[in-house]
Amino acid sequence: MEHKPKLAVSACLLGEKVRYNGEASEFRALTQKWNGHFEMMGVCPEVGIGMATPRPTIRLVNNGKSIRLVNPKNGDDLTSPMLEYAQLQADVLVESGICGFVFKKDSASCGLERVKVYREGHTHATHDGMGMFAKIFTTLYPHIPVIEEDQLTDARQAEHYLARVHFFSLWYQEGLNGWTPKAIMEFHNVNKLFLLSRSANAKRRLERLIAQGFDNDDRPETVALAYMTEAQQSLKVLTKSGPIAHAMERVLGKLSSNLSKNERQEVLDTINDFRQGLLPRSAPLTLLQHHLRRCHIDTPIHQRFLSPIPQSLGLMARV
Ligand code: SF4
Repeated sequence: MEHKPKLAVSACLLGEKVRYNGEASEFRALTQKWNGHFEMMGVCPEVGIGMATPRPTIRLVNNGKSIRLVNPKNGDDLTSPMLEYAQLQADVLVESGICGFVFKKDSASCGLERVKVYREGHTHATHDGMGMFAKIFTTLYPHIPVIEEDQLTDARQAEHYLARVHFFSLWYQEGLNGWTPKAIMEFHNVNKLFLLSRSANAKRRLERLIAQGFDNDDRPETVALAYMTEAQQSLKVLTKSGPIAHAMERVLGKLSSNLSKNERQEVLDTINDFRQGLLPRSAPLTLLQHHLRRCHIDTPIHQRFLSPIPQSLGLMARV
């Protein structure tokens, strides 16, 4: 990957001692394994609204009308400063060109899901909230891929998320040249096999969205933004082996006339073994890469599917 995508990250995950207790929650995959591939930008919303480190823990409280961000020790309501900070900071981050955001789980400011929400005057909490900063960010910018750090400990989740980030980064780079209807179609065409492999219906839905946008005479920038928003919503669900195996069979279809019967059967068997969980994804992908190169029919469409993330991230052998 030539261009290093920018990743916003909850600052404590990058080893910054900004937590309520004056400590960090360093997530080493980010700081020691993947840091060469991304430009990481640490953001601590609680420090951003002027809180000290260390500081009292703050929590989400449902007062019956709305969910507030509260310091339970002294009753301070931090909702307004957090809302104001979140809107400003989200704009700054997106304008700087971030391609994803890794949030700290369980935090009343940064958590994406299952964050504790207390009922006012009660000690009991439900686990169905979203950190206030994360909520504002994802509401304002639903086209940017987000995840919590604990999901990245699973190789399949990590590969899928980083593939979404890379996909976003290509879209962002393309957009710097100015979107045109032709550029949107070309971007979609190059990525359609990748999309098909990750979400069975995304490709068709996106083609309909592009056609509707053009029919309505929407501005290309508007169509491109709607395209990425829809694409990232579709890609939220972790892909299963079935759609990936199906995309591999499509590549094999392109190759078939160049392969002997035995070679074709060998690839088919390897794809089937992957589908059944007997082989990692890298086994059929390597075989397909080999035949595409040997037959000189390698294309950007194939490459987007076969190499969605750089191999040096160390994830492809584990999925
Ligand atoms: S507000 Fe977010 S970045 Fe700051 S310490 Fe809490 S979880 Fe980490």
